[in-house]
Amino acid sequence: MKKGKIGVTTENIFPIIKKFLYSDHEIFLRELVANAVDATQKMKALSSIGDFNGELGDLTIRIKTDEKKNTLTITDRGIGMTMEEVDKYINQIAFSSAGEFLEKYKEQLNNIIGHFGLGFYSTFMTSKKVVINTLSWKEGAKGVRWECDGSPEFTMEEIDKTDRGTEIILYLDDDSKEFSSKTKITELLNKYCKFMPVPIAFGKTEEWKDGKMVETEQDKIINESTPLWTKTPSEITEEDYLKFYRLLYPMQDDPLFHIHLNVDYPFNLTGILYFPKIKDKMDITRNKIQLYSNQMFVTDSVENIVPDFLTLLYGVIDSPDIPLNVSRSYLQSDANVKKISSYITRKVADRLEDIYKNDRASFEAKWDNLKLFIEYGMLTDEKFYDRAVKFALFKTVDGKYLNYEDYKKLIEPAQTDKNKKLVYLYTTDPVAQYTYIEDAKDRGYQVLVFDSQLDAHFVNLLESKFKDTTFARVDADSIDSLIQKESKEKPKLKENEESDLGYAFEAVLPKDSHYHVQVENLGAAAAPILITQSEFMRRYRDMSALNGGLNFYGEMPDSYTVILNYENPLIQEIIKDKDEETRKEADEIQAKLVATRSSLEEAEAKMKGKKPEEIATADKDEKERLDKQISELSGQRKEIMEKFGQNNTLLKQIADLALLSNNMLKGKELHSFIKRSLQILGPDGKSGKGEEIK
Ligand code: ADP
Repeated sequence: MKKGKIGVTTENIFPIIKKFLYSDHEIFLRELVANAVDATQKMKALSSIGDFNGELGDLTIRIKTDEKKNTLTITDRGIGMTMEEVDKYINQIAFSSAGEFLEKYKEQLNNIIGHFGLGFYSTFMTSKKVVINTLSWKEGAKGVRWECDGSPEFTMEEIDKTDRGTEIILYLDDDSKEFSSKTKITELLNKYCKFMPVPIAFGKTEEWKDGKMVETEQDKIINESTPLWTKTPSEITEEDYLKFYRLLYPMQDDPLFHIHLNVDYPFNLTGILYFPKIKDKMDITRNKIQLYSNQMFVTDSVENIVPDFLTLLYGVIDSPDIPLNVSRSYLQSDANVKKISSYITRKVADRLEDIYKNDRASFEAKWDNLKLFIEYGMLTDEKFYDRAVKFALFKTVDGKYLNYEDYKKLIEPAQTDKNKKLVYLYTTDPVAQYTYIEDAKDRGYQVLVFDSQLDAHFVNLLESKFKDTTFARVDADSIDSLIQKESKEKPKLKENEESDLGYAFEAVLPKDSHYHVQVENLGAAAAPILITQSEFMRRYRDMSALNGGLNFYGEMPDSYTVILNYENPLIQEIIKDKDEETRKEADEIQAKLVATRSSLEEAEAKMKGKKPEEIATADKDEKERLDKQISELSGQRKEIMEKFGQNNTLLKQIADLALLSNNMLKGKELHSFIKRSLQILGPDGKSGKGEEIK
């Protein structure tokens, strides 16, 4: 028997391992199974090149648990090890390299993908004693038993062992009992070993017999050793792809389509990516792609490996060329990772373009579920934008789908304004913005549906990419102001008229938002009132809401423009009412205002050209008094107009109707509107000027 001390740099490395890797203890199982797979693959290779001429036999890797003894055993029929090899690979290399590894990566250990590289050593995270029984494939080799109890001391001796290969027995720590439980090991094998390339047996299959489930003699193979992505695409049917997807994501809706990746130069990569159906905002799940390295599970978080928008996809990527024992932040700058990343982006674009070109109908049918993904890609990846701009679609409110070029051709004749700018109209909510959409359609304009959560950003992107183009939401202004054909004539208003009407209408509008009233000619047939929100303002609010933070724009109260249509007969009637009812009071104030203003002018004329210290105090006081008087008179005028507004049923009724058509009439105001309307309809209701109705 040989005794010795393991060559580690740190006196006792095991406590360190336990401490650093506490959260990820379970990976030891993957490491051991991976070693067993390696040893088995090497055996197959030796046999195929003729170095080994004996029987390969059953190469299944077997895993056993013993809950009573608290042990876990992994057995393979691979190449095994001679005593020299155990000394070299386990005592020296493995341990010392693990020591170095820990030293080097202590800081970023949690960052490292799956903690690759610890290998055999990781068993000490969970075991108080580890035994290796092994017999090398080499002729005349003797069996070896190696034992280590978690201190740097080990023993090694010759044993009688007749079957080739390696058996590793873990005597688990008391606090790692879970790893001798069948359920736990089943779960871990399913997570880490599901697609390893050599059959792995754990337990026995079960069958239904005499009214209960009983174990059979048959080994239960827990893995699929030739998973779909390793096969040639021409041999795979659609059904196979679907089945594989369902195996990976049993709870998901079927995908839209798939992409089979397969490249071996200048890097090696295989995989299958699936486009999930993204129905709405709530549907977005990231990081569903599983990363493998030679069929060994590495991680299910591929961020930093593929471009951000691709993390919305599902599926499997297998590449031995993605460096594994480096930190995630380093990954992004790795040359191979960059190449892989742009390869995948290109393939995704190829596939989308292919469907667009060859099966336009199905592309259109899938568009609503694809849109968010494509827009996200276009927003975040310049190269993808350049590709996608050829196949991305616009959807109109009438449910038509057109590519960007065709759409432009369609709207160019009608929607170019007097400054030669092409105006794209869109709606974020075809139901809520129905009235505005109808107005646009009446003019022969097209309206796009931009209802995804990314669209606020996407509109900005398109505006910056398209030449001489603006995007405007249909309710951002009156339709004729959104697409201005020729300079519109402003209504001819009397002095103070616009501000008087402003006071009257503001008095009846809800107080929680800010309204600015404006009088315009929209044509006699158009609605009396239009409530709009400026495109600029709304876009910034949307974006700040999207970015999660309330910034300057987010904190401001909503602000709207209320456009009174001067040519509409109802507005004309209100103006007439206003003039009749307020004439006396308003005229008096107006006369005083005129007089005060001219006094002020005189006073100011006196002061003209004088330095402040040269002006007489009496003159200063006089000016101050006049200023005050003017503002008082204006205040009175405002009050008169407010009172008029509050008492005019017609005015209130049409203001409420405008609010209602924008979905802005709620609660108490809605209640009073309904009551008022019923009164108007009732037998003694008096429409228009009725004082009785409030
Ligand atoms: P790595 O697998 O990264 O080389 P390990 O510490 O896991 O590091 O293993 C060290 C070496 O021990 C392996 O390279 C291999 O030569 C040998 N070894 C480990 N497990 C087995 C096994 N089941 N059969 C044969 N050799 C093995």
